[in-house]
Order: sequence, then C-alpha cells, then structure tokens
Amino acid sequence: MEPLPDIVAVMVCVAVDVPYSYRVPHGMQVVRGSIVAVPLIGRTTLGVVMGVPKDNYAHNRLKDIEQVFDVPPVSEELLRTVEWVSRYTLAPPGLVLRSVVRSKEALEPERPITAFRATGVIPPKMTAARQRVLDLLADGEDWAKAALVGASGVSASVIDGLERAGSVSRISVAPPPIVQPPDPDAAPPVLNAAQAEALEAIRALPDGGFGVALLDGVTGSGKTEVFFEAVADTLRAGRQALILLPEIALTHTFLERFTRRFGTRPGEWHSDMTPVQRSRTWRAVMDGTVRAVVGARSALFLPFHELGLIVLDEEHDGAYKQSEGVNYHARDMAVVRAKFADARVILSSATPSVESRNNANLGRYAHVVLHARFAEAAMPDISPVDMREEPPEKGTWIAPRLAREIFATLDRGEQALLFLNRRGYAPLTLCRACGHQYQCPDCSAWLVEHRFRGVLMCHHCGHEVRTPQACTECGAVDSLVPVGPGIERVAEEAAARFPDARTVVLSSDMGSHDQLRERFQEIEQGAYDLVIGTQLVTKGHHFEKLTLVGVLDADLGLDKGDPRAAERTFQILTQVTGRAGRANRAGKALLQTYHPTHPVMTAMVKGDREAFYAHEMAAREAGGLPPFGRLAALIVSANEHEPAFTHAKQLLSAAPMAEGLKLFGPADAPIAMVRGRHRVRLLAQSGKDFDLSGYVRFWLENGPKPTGNIRVQVDVDPQSFM
Ligand code: ADP
Ligand code: ZN
Repeated sequence: MEPLPDIVAVMVCVAVDVPYSYRVPHGMQVVRGSIVAVPLIGRTTLGVVMGVPKDNYAHNRLKDIEQVFDVPPVSEELLRTVEWVSRYTLAPPGLVLRSVVRSKEALEPERPITAFRATGVIPPKMTAARQRVLDLLADGEDWAKAALVGASGVSASVIDGLERAGSVSRISVAPPPIVQPPDPDAAPPVLNAAQAEALEAIRALPDGGFGVALLDGVTGSGKTEVFFEAVADTLRAGRQALILLPEIALTHTFLERFTRRFGTRPGEWHSDMTPVQRSRTWRAVMDGTVRAVVGARSALFLPFHELGLIVLDEEHDGAYKQSEGVNYHARDMAVVRAKFADARVILSSATPSVESRNNANLGRYAHVVLHARFAEAAMPDISPVDMREEPPEKGTWIAPRLAREIFATLDRGEQALLFLNRRGYAPLTLCRACGHQYQCPDCSAWLVEHRFRGVLMCHHCGHEVRTPQACTECGAVDSLVPVGPGIERVAEEAAARFPDARTVVLSSDMGSHDQLRERFQEIEQGAYDLVIGTQLVTKGHHFEKLTLVGVLDADLGLDKGDPRAAERTFQILTQVTGRAGRANRAGKALLQTYHPTHPVMTAMVKGDREAFYAHEMAAREAGGLPPFGRLAALIVSANEHEPAFTHAKQLLSAAPMAEGLKLFGPADAPIAMVRGRHRVRLLAQSGKDFDLSGYVRFWLENGPKPTGNIRVQVDVDPQSFM
C-alpha cells in the first residue's frame, strides 16, 4: 500500500461521527488502517487512519500523529464492516471502532520473560535446593523463572544465588504463544451419512468466496461435528475461523470438544478473561498466530486478516443482540463481515430464527438440514399437561402427572430436569395486612424475592434490600406473602416431595461462572438426580442420563406485547425439551400449560417444526413484521416523565412523510421506568425494501434535538420491546 500524504483523516475511537485530520510527522509512514495515537482535547486517544481527508484544513492548525503502532493495519474488510455497522445501527463510527481497537496494551510489543539455562558451572556450595534446580535445567531447555520456582519448589532466592555463582545464566525469551495452532487432522470423526451430506452441502458454497449456510438440525443431530469439519477445511485452506457462542462463559464442554477435535484449545474471547489474556489474544489474532477463536459476540470485531469462516452456534439466541452502546445483532453483522471478507458463514440451530429460515426459503442461504438425532437417540416424546384439567394442588407448582413421572424417572436411576425461566423465590411479594406490593424505587418492576440470599431484588437495575421482618408500610409482623413461583420456590417444593433425590438448583445468579461450570460437570457425571433450572440449563448441554424434562410454565413469555414472543417460546421449549434422551435412553417432556391448543404448543407436541414456522411466517407476513418488514425503535428517556413524553411527541410531529412508512407511539415503555429514568417509545415500521436506518438518521438530524437530561436511543431491528 502506498504511504499516504502528510495530512490524513483519523477516526478516533470515541463516540464521534466523522474522522479528524492530523499531520503525519516527518519520517512517519501510515497507510489506511494504520493504528495510531493522536492528541484529542488534551489527551491521547487511539485511532485508525482512514485515508485522505475529505476537507482541506489549514496546515498550521493541525496536530501531529503522536505514534503509529507496529502492528499490521486494520484490514479493509474490517474497516468496511465498521462503516456498515455504524450506518445500519446509527452508532457513531468511532464508537463502533472502539470494538475493534480496545487497548493500548495489545498494540505494544509483547514483553519478553525472564528465563534461565544451565551454564555447566558447578556451584562452589551445593545444597539440596540448588541441586533440584540444576536437575531440572539438566534437560538443556530454557526455563521461565516462575516455572523453575514452581517445579522445583525452591524460593526465587536460590535461583538468584545460582546466578551469582555463575551456574545459571539469565536470558530474555519471547513469551510462549497464547495457544498452539489447531491441527485440522488431529481427531476427525466418522460422520454418518446425513452429516456427510450436510458437510458436502456446506463445501458446495462458493469456493474462497462469500456464502451462508443455515445448518438446521434437531437437538443432538450432530451439528457441532459438522461445523467442526468446516472449521478444519478453513484451517487447511490457510484461513482463520471464528466460532461464536451465545453463552461463552458456561461452555467449557464446548472448549473441551474443540480441544479433542483439534488437539489444542482455541483462542478464546469473552468477558471472563484477564486484560493480559485479552491483549495477547487480540494481538495473536491480528498477527495470525491464532488460527481459530471461540468467542462471544464481540469477537466479531477481532482484527483477523485471513478470516475464512464464521460459525454462529445457536444462531437464534437472543444473546447475539447487543443492547448497550452499539445496538448490533451479531448474526446480521457476521453476514456483513463475511461478505466483505469473502468468507463463509454457518448459522447453526435446532430452532433457527424466522429471519434465517426466511433467507433459506428465499435461496439466499443454503438450507442444510439434519432430520434425526445422531446414532440411536430418538426425539423426546412431548405431551401437554392441561393446567385447567389437572392443576397442581393449591400452593404447589408441580402437577400430579409430572410428579408421577419424576418418581418413575428417579426410580429408574435417571435424571429429571424441572425448568422454570424465573430466578429467585417469588416474582412478587405483598403484605397480607395492608396489600402493599414491594416495588423497585427506580424501575417500574416488582422486587423479586431471593430467599437463599434473604433479599428482595430488582431484576432490571440490581437494586436490593434485605427482606423485611415486618411490612415497611404498615408495620405488620410476619405478614409478607410470596406470590407466584421462582425456581427457588420450586426447589423447596421438590425437596419436600422428593426428599431422597439429589437436587441441584441452577440459575445465573447462583455462583460464579466457575462454580456453575462445576455444577454442569457434576450433572454430566450423574452426581444429581433432579436438576431445577432457568434458561441457563437449556443451552447446548449434553446430559446423558437426563430422560425427563418438566416445563412448569410453558406459557411464560407468550403473552408479552412482543412480535417474537411465539418464536422465543417455541425456541426455548424446543431447546429445553431437547435436553431429554440425548443418549440411548428414550426421553420424555411434559409441558404445563393453560393454552394446550396454542400453535406453539400443538407444534411442540406433534414435533412438527414446519407447522410452527409456517404459522409464524404467515402471521409475520400479514403484519408486515420482520423479516417481511423492518422495525426501528426510538426510546426517549429522561429523569421526569413529562419532558420525555413531550420530546417524543415533538419528534413524532417532525417525522418526514414517506411512502409505506408507519409510525407508532409515543407510548410509555412496558417497563416505563428503569434506573430512575422514564422511558417513552416510538416505533417505525416499513417495508423490506425501505432504508429505515437512513430514514431514522435523516429524521433525527432534522428533528428537535434533545435538551437537558433527555436522551434518544435508536434500536434498529429491536429484539426487546420492553
Ligand atoms: P447438536 O450440536 O446438533 O446438538 P452434537 O454435535 O452435540 O449435536 O451431537 C450430539 C452427540 O452425538 C454428541 O455427544 C456428539 O459427540 C455425538 N456425535 C455427533 N456426531 C458424531 C459422530 N459423527 N461421531 C461420533 N459421535 C458423534
Ligand atoms: Zn430497579
């Protein structure tokens, strides 16, 4: 690439909309993509050189670039992805760029580590401790100081003594690579016929070019094995592979599977890593030492230079949508990046999003289907428990039929899972004496009792108080009653009804990631008979002894004012019932429901996915909802309700007319207050071929500007309507 002239446009990694011009000092060379440090309002900021400035500034007003980092420039495809994400989500490009260039540490050369090697000189005074060190060094290798201390059990001063005696010499060595390169041929599986066919369909995507496959296979059909082979192909072709997972911190089993298949751990990218691990991984991805990464959605912005494949496992998962800062959906942006990088995408799921199914139907994505479970495993037998006909006894949540099935399962020495997607003990606490309902002071939400921890807690902002002994309103003692169940309450019932079962309760607030990981391992090893959990237990786990799944409230989530409520319910029910009978024992699932004739329930019971998709797509198309139309939400918030609402009304009246565009609102958000801020929503709906992002940008640029503490957030393709 030609070096650029002496004035360049630099996009700084802060929330700004346009690049600023800087002077390239004499002797420095930069190209498009060079990562630089520049002065900005009195401090140094990281930025990326975009090219020649569009405007001509007077030379003497410009500041110099302070430093250009000795790393490869950001690739053209990533720069174009950043630009695209910014234009689509309306997030300032500098803010999107901050997802790429994160820290200065990653840009500095790696610090060498201190190591020792033997010189052959025998120390004048030999001690047992010294001998242990020299014995280790007798292998002729260089040993890092920390490793030498760890392996010999001596203190660091012994090594210093040996150094003074001239018996060991101190050297600086490059730190070992963060991971070893994966071997595509380490342990390839023998695919069954259906898997082999699926792999061939993926291989048939354009060679070395862009293409998307929807890997649509029932739970336990062996999708992971199939996309691992596509990863192997990518590695063999000398390109890098990225696997995105929705819930990275809990997927130790996935990392182990990768390690078994490729002989080494992948590069990792998630929130559990230390800053040093992050920096090292980032740099190794950029310089190409890391060939495969398993990561959370933000790994999408890693500086790959040879990206050949992006896999999204559980592509339907809501965790792929980021709803803070840059509101992007990792599935859509993965397709965008792959297009610019001439790479492939595999979207894998047992319950594909309606969006992806539609793209497959239209032939935009190759539709690769696995109809049956791997080997002997059969799909679970699913039946409804009609809560109107056979309800649980008053004050309990497990219907008699489900209880009988649990007993039978435990008698056979198998595992049962009770699923309720609600953390805590009870979603509502009220005072029997005065009727007071405990609410969050800062959010329009009830406080959820967490009995294990003895608190009432807001699930929106984290506010918590100790559960009071007496009503804080009327002072009545022992008058608080829990209303409705959370999993802790179900666990209490289970403990009373199945006292001999070894029971474990699992939700995201029940311990650190490491602790949860341990619990999952114990379940896999059969240490528990009864698992009670939230959504956390539905994702990706493979519990061989688990043969019964009881869904306590299959209707939860159906009645929200959300266009994706039915889809989400279908997905979560399929995922959770899919935990049953994954090995060679038959699985069974019971759905406790008040709506056994709802299309979601009938599709579940009949095992008829196609019926669900057909029904759901027809409904979406009739309503002009995604993927047959576009939505963008504007959330206006303020410290008081009135200014938020007034601003939303003014925005609405300033909205430009456009053919086929519909505007809804303003309306108080279903959760009208969060963290003390009142929230008012506007919704724009358009046809598929309308540039809704462009429209909203034009609207906001020309509409009234927020003043005071009013804020306007844009959410293109909103996934949450709360
Ligand atoms: P999915 O990702 O579709 O839910 P998995 O890939 O987890 O399914 O496969 C389900 C189970 O079957 C796993 O235990 C996996 O190891 C096993 N399995 C799948 N394909 C093969 C294969 N070709 N050879 C051996 N075991 C396989
Ligand atoms: Zn709150």
